[in-house]
Amino acid sequence: MKIKSYRQYKEDYKQSIQNPEVFWADIAKQFTWRKKWDKVLEADFTKPEVKWFVGGKLNITENCLDRHLEKNGNKTAIIWEPNNPKEESRHITYKQLYHKVSAFANVLKNKGIEKGDRVCLYMPMIPELAIAMLACARIGAVHSIVFAGFSASALASRINDSNCKLLITANEVYRGTKPINLKAVCDEALENTPCVKDVIVYRRTVEPTTMKEGRDTFWFDELQKIKDDYCPAVDMDSEDMLFILYTSGSTGTPKGMVHTCGGYMVGTTYTFQNVFQAKKDDVYWCTADIGWITGHSYIIYGPLASGATTVMFEGVPSYPDYGRFWEIIEKLKVTHFYTAPTAIRALEKQPIHFVEKHNLNSLKVLGSVGEPINEEAWHWYNDNIGKGTCPIVDTWWQTETGGIMISALAGITPLRPTFATQPLPGVQPVLLDENGKEITESPAEGSLAIKGAWPSMARTIYGNHQRYKETYFSAFPGKYFTGDGAYRDAMGNYRITGRMDDVIIVSGHNLGTAPIENAINEHEAIVECAIVGFPHDIKGNALYAYVTKYNDIATDEDVLRKEINQVITKTIGAIAKLDKIQFVSGLPKTRSGKIMRRILRKIASNDAENLGDISTLLNPEVVEEIKQNVL
Ligand code: ATP
Ligand code: MG
Repeated sequence: MKIKSYRQYKEDYKQSIQNPEVFWADIAKQFTWRKKWDKVLEADFTKPEVKWFVGGKLNITENCLDRHLEKNGNKTAIIWEPNNPKEESRHITYKQLYHKVSAFANVLKNKGIEKGDRVCLYMPMIPELAIAMLACARIGAVHSIVFAGFSASALASRINDSNCKLLITANEVYRGTKPINLKAVCDEALENTPCVKDVIVYRRTVEPTTMKEGRDTFWFDELQKIKDDYCPAVDMDSEDMLFILYTSGSTGTPKGMVHTCGGYMVGTTYTFQNVFQAKKDDVYWCTADIGWITGHSYIIYGPLASGATTVMFEGVPSYPDYGRFWEIIEKLKVTHFYTAPTAIRALEKQPIHFVEKHNLNSLKVLGSVGEPINEEAWHWYNDNIGKGTCPIVDTWWQTETGGIMISALAGITPLRPTFATQPLPGVQPVLLDENGKEITESPAEGSLAIKGAWPSMARTIYGNHQRYKETYFSAFPGKYFTGDGAYRDAMGNYRITGRMDDVIIVSGHNLGTAPIENAINEHEAIVECAIVGFPHDIKGNALYAYVTKYNDIATDEDVLRKEINQVITKTIGAIAKLDKIQFVSGLPKTRSGKIMRRILRKIASNDAENLGDISTLLNPEVVEEIKQNVL
């Protein structure tokens, strides 16, 4: 399944497009199936309806666990690193994980959970989250994981949207020095979720926990009740639901994406192995929370189906100090490190001794995901973390795509900073102009869409197929619309230029946000920024920038404004000069760390009364500050 050279990548890519069914059948047969598929693919983007490995039967946990037992049972599957560095890490082998998952699967059965039932997981980053998730998959229950930083009302709306029967949570968890009472959030949510019959609580801390008689029980008590830690894996159809997961909510109300068993397994495993190129004894660490798609696909399913060692980190990058990530890399001898631009920019801002204190020699590959990575952050990451010797894979993909779509393959694809580079085999990106016409020449810029189906794509939005059709298959009939814009260079490398919702038309020119933000970030006094448009009498729209700067670089704000515009004029052109620059203490972000430009756009356009769905907003206090100081 693994590509070993650029030449092979090119050949495989060609094969995958000319003959997708042959290509994917060849990959899929390397997994454990209970019954082979009858047909590789049935896809119709007009309905839309997509089915992969039709008629095949499997259980993804047999591929993540059982099939490693014979040869790799004693290999570490999960290394768990606690929030508090004084607490012991946990190393869980494939065999141990297999037993724990089976045992908890029996707990779920005891609770009356059956194939197809939805189970909500609202849990911290502890191995029990992985165990609960895989236990659901073992018996065919559908997990819906909600990031354990969401409020009670956000949790309740997700529980109700997918009609979950059971909620699994923990009593309390520490993030840095801050205790978070997850059970209290659940109790509040549960006042409005009539569908939930039972709650299982993992006791993560010794704090007393209020429990509701007849509804709430403790994880360990439930385990005591079961007699057997063997649980046969249930037969799943390729197209049976594996999980529901809500998008980040950067552009609007989150969508409950539905992923199915066969295609998702094949797609995430194939992309994991090829993008990261991890070897047998490597230690792979993705810093995402499992509450996001990155955690689903590239902490759990992809790595475990590959028999890799995957790290789970409970804490935050700033505790006990800003060297924590680097300390963990040194301690666990991490070889593959996969994080987000928001984290890189936050860490780049800290004194460099936090990095220099640690030996990062074990690192081989670095990754980035979630937002466009700007050039300055890319170079900082490359120079200070990778020491110029680790390829950086900038992976573009979405909750909807299930797996990585455009990315370099580590050590194989030539890199270009700010470019996600080239599509994975099986992925056909196209650029479309305003009329929906495909732009075939390069270089070019346009709306990014995908032609043809790929195995790990979401099949629908839970309970709302119409919204699925409208959001992804209506803008450009016959193609999947990503919502993002992209630029393609003469070599066929793709650069994501931002969300199409955020494109700003200034004096008739379409400007994407990423290249302008990239230019601003080049200024040494700037940490991060976000660009939006606001109505302007002459130009139609003008540019408004929200900028955070380093505290210790003293520069007069008006001087800084001039310098920023000089950088923009030089790198992009006078057309992209900013009309307004507001210095802020932080940018509004989703809980997954993405800038929410739609909120900033409303504020810049004097429409702050009407901010839309802000349930996924991480830092409302920043929004208040920005509103008060708007220019
Ligand atoms: P919502 O769909 O609810 O508005 P969201 O799009 O932020 O939220 P996700 O599925 O978590 O939800 O994020 C996918 C989006 O993240 C992509 O469409 C793209 O805009 C951005 N993205 C992810 N990876 C990259 C990357 N490597 N480079 C540029 N952008 C990226
Ligand atoms: Mg999206």
